[in-house]
Amino acid sequence: MEEMTENKLPEATNFIEQFINEDLASGKVTAIQTRFPPEPNGYLHVGHAKSMFVNFGTALKYGGKCNLFFDDTNPSKEKTEYVDAIRADIHWLGYEWARECYASDFFEQIYAYALRLIREGKAFVCDLSAEEIKNTRGTLTEPGIESPYRNRTPAENLELFEQMRAGKYADGEKCLRAKIDMALPNLNMRDPVIYRILHATHHRTGDQWCIYPMYDYAHPICDYLQGVTHSLCTLEFEDHRPLYDWVGLSLGFDPKPRQIEFARLNLTNTVMSKRYLKKLVEEGMVHGWDDPRMPTLSGLRNRGIPAAAVRDFCSRIGIAKANSECEYSYFEACVREYLNAHAERAMAVLSPLRLTVTNFVGSEALDFEKNQTDPAAGTREVLFGKHLYIESSDFSLNPPPKYFRLKKGGYVRLKNAYIVRCDDFVTDEAGNVTEVLCSYVPESHSGNDTSGIKVKGVIHWVNAETAVDVEVRQYESLLRDADYAGQDFSERMNQASEKIIQAKAEPYLKEAPEGTPFQIMRTGYYKKSCADGKQILSEIVSLKDNFNKPRA
Ligand code: ATP
Ligand code: MG
Repeated sequence: MEEMTENKLPEATNFIEQFINEDLASGKVTAIQTRFPPEPNGYLHVGHAKSMFVNFGTALKYGGKCNLFFDDTNPSKEKTEYVDAIRADIHWLGYEWARECYASDFFEQIYAYALRLIREGKAFVCDLSAEEIKNTRGTLTEPGIESPYRNRTPAENLELFEQMRAGKYADGEKCLRAKIDMALPNLNMRDPVIYRILHATHHRTGDQWCIYPMYDYAHPICDYLQGVTHSLCTLEFEDHRPLYDWVGLSLGFDPKPRQIEFARLNLTNTVMSKRYLKKLVEEGMVHGWDDPRMPTLSGLRNRGIPAAAVRDFCSRIGIAKANSECEYSYFEACVREYLNAHAERAMAVLSPLRLTVTNFVGSEALDFEKNQTDPAAGTREVLFGKHLYIESSDFSLNPPPKYFRLKKGGYVRLKNAYIVRCDDFVTDEAGNVTEVLCSYVPESHSGNDTSGIKVKGVIHWVNAETAVDVEVRQYESLLRDADYAGQDFSERMNQASEKIIQAKAEPYLKEAPEGTPFQIMRTGYYKKSCADGKQILSEIVSLKDNFNKPRA
C-alpha cells in the first residue's frame, strides 16, 4: 500500500478522520486498518449499517483495510446461523472485508497475555462471587473495596488460573481480575473481571475452553493482533476506553490501536436491540428475522429496500459525537428518493370497480414511459380496451366540492390513455356502484390531445381482460407511535401492522423478475414477488410521507 505523507492526507470530513490524519501526520501509523466487530448473537440491523459505513467507509477513504471481526466471547448466546446471516448481510450492503477473523481465533494468545499480566503482578485470581464483586465496586462518589484475594502472589495466581482453565472450578467460583485501582473514579477501572469460568460449548471451539475472556480485555488484544490502527465503536464504550488503553499499555502494544467513539444510530419508533428483535422472532410476533417489518438488514432486503438507499442514508446522517434520534421518515425519504429515480412505473387497482368504455371497440397498444424521471429507461406497451378497472375511490356518487376524479357527467383522464366522460353507472340491490359507463374522447390521446377538453383529474386503471390477480401486502410500523413511548415494547406493539388486499394489476408485473421494485402509480413503491403460485406486491415505502397516519 502506498504510504500517506502529510501533504497527501485526504481532507477530514468528520472528527474520526481528523484523529486519523493526526496519527498519519505524526507518523504513528502509515496505513489504516479498521474492523467491523459484530457479536454473532443475532441478525444485523440498520444501526449496524451505520457502523459498517463508518468502519468500511473510513478504511476505503484511506486506501486501508477493514476486517470482519466476530466478537464471539459469549458462547451461550452465539450461533453459526448468525455468523452466516451476518456475512450475507454485509455482502448485500455492498461491503467486502479484507480478512475474516474471530475472537476465538485468538483465545490461546489472549490466554498467554493473561499469564503475562499475572506474572507481572497486574492480574489476580479472585474468589469473590459476581454479586460480591458488584457490591464491593463502590459508587461514583465512593471508592470500591479491595478484594481479600488481591495480594495473592503471582505464583499462586498462575497455578489457580491454570486450574481454572483445566476445569477444576464451577462457573462463577473464581475469576481473573485486572489489578488496577479500586479508588479510580472510573468504575470500569476498579479491578475489572477479565476472565470468567463458563462451562459452555462454543460454536467454534466446542468444549476446548471453560474460561472465556471478557469483552473489555479481549477486544484491545484482538484489535492489536489484527493490526487494527483505529478501533471505531459507539459512544457507550467511551467509559471503557481507559481500560482499553490500560490493556494496550500494560502489554506494550506498539503501535497501540486507538479507540474512537461515535454516536449510534437511533431511529424514532424503531427498536434496534438484538435482544428485543430476537424476542419478536421467538414469540412469533413477526414471521422471522427477515420479516419485512423488521429493522434488520435481512428485513430491509426482504422489504425491497435497495442497499444503495441504505448506504445513502448512512452517508447523509453523518458521523457525530453526541447521541441523537433520527426521524424514521428521513430514512423513508432516502428510500423514496432512490426508488423514484430507479423504479419502473406500473398500474394496479387495489379496490377494483368496473369501468366500461361503451364507444371503444377492440384494443390499442399505448406507449407507456417506464420512468418519467429517467427518459433513458424507455417505454413499454400497455393495452387499452373496452373493459377496465379503476379504483373504487376514484368514482363518487356524492362528490365533495373540488372533486376532480370521476362523477356522473364529469370528465377524467385515464393515465397515459384517453379522456373519458362518465355517462351513467350501475348499482346492485344494496345501492353499491358496481360499474361505471363511460364514453372516451378519441382526439384526447395522451401526448397528442387535440380535444380542447381541460381535465384536472388523472386516474390509473387496469385492463380487465388482461389483468392479473395480485396479493398486495401493506405494512405499518411494528410499534405504535411516540404517544406510547415509555411503555414497554410489548405494550406498544401495533397488532395490525400487516394488511393483505386482493388486487388487479397489469400483466407486466407477472413477467417482472422476482424482487423488482415498482412505483405502483398513485399507490406506493412495491416489490414484486411470487409464492405458492400467487403474484405478490409488497409495500416498500409509501409514495408520500404518511408514517403512522391512518390510511385513507
Ligand atoms: P445490540 O445492542 O443490537 O445487540 P450491539 O452493539 O451489541 O447491538 P454488536 O454486534 O456488538 O451489537 O455490534 C457490532 C458493532 O455495531 C459495534 O461496534 C456496535 O457499536 C455497532 N452498532 C450496534 N448498534 C449500532 C447503532 N445503532 N448505530 C451504530 N453502530 C451500532
Ligand atoms: Mg453487543
